[in-house]
Amino acid sequence: MQSPLSIAIDGPASSGKGTVARMVAHALNLSYVDTGAMYRSVGLRALELGIRTTDGPAVGALAASLNFAFSWDGARLRVAVDGEDLTKAIRTERVGQAASDVAVLVEVRAALLELQRELAKNGAVLDGRDIGTVVLPDADLKVYLDASPEVRASRRRDELAARGDHRPLEAVLRDILARDAQDSGREHAPLCAAADAVRIDSTHRTPQQVVTEILRLAGQIGGVSAPTT
Ligand code: C5P
Repeated sequence: MQSPLSIAIDGPASSGKGTVARMVAHALNLSYVDTGAMYRSVGLRALELGIRTTDGPAVGALAASLNFAFSWDGARLRVAVDGEDLTKAIRTERVGQAASDVAVLVEVRAALLELQRELAKNGAVLDGRDIGTVVLPDADLKVYLDASPEVRASRRRDELAARGDHRPLEAVLRDILARDAQDSGREHAPLCAAADAVRIDSTHRTPQQVVTEILRLAGQIGGVSAPTT
């Protein structure tokens, strides 16, 4: 029997990783692990508890103490921490920035690393910034998904607007570029493509087109038959 597939999907903010990773996981009957949601949850809890997001030991201890539970409600991935559903609360821009701040801390990364590997043990699709480089260096398939900053900003603006947070495109673009710079420039596990990652640009592609490409790539490994549509 073949061992279950592990697929790493990395890329910058709003490159479409989450949507695509979820669809690929569904098509291959694998679980989907949104590692960004974990950093977001740590960031949110730090803000709520008044812990400075620069305090490595304190935020690291907080990260290690959290109990994450992911579940699928038929429409989206739900994230609960210590029994509280944080699915909605972690999606604000403020929490996104706090996530990026705590993600700089080596203590936080260490606390989440083992958990992420554990979740991937029986095969999974993981998306994040360092999955192919650090979390699953031996993943069966690594994808680095990118898109132009303008297209990513416009996707993010539409997402925020759908939640009632209306922002000008320029402000969203500025925030995205700042977060990319912080994620790529940090010392520990920066955002970058693994040497053996397949790069896919989603600027002019729909999520379904990207998914089809990834399933085709997955079909080339491990004997998984990818759908033809
Ligand atoms: O992907 P998402 O925007 O939800 O991630 C929020 C933040 O969490 C990112 O900006 C990044 O700083 C951090 N992150 C990370 N490593 C991961 C996933 C997310 O550093 N594997």
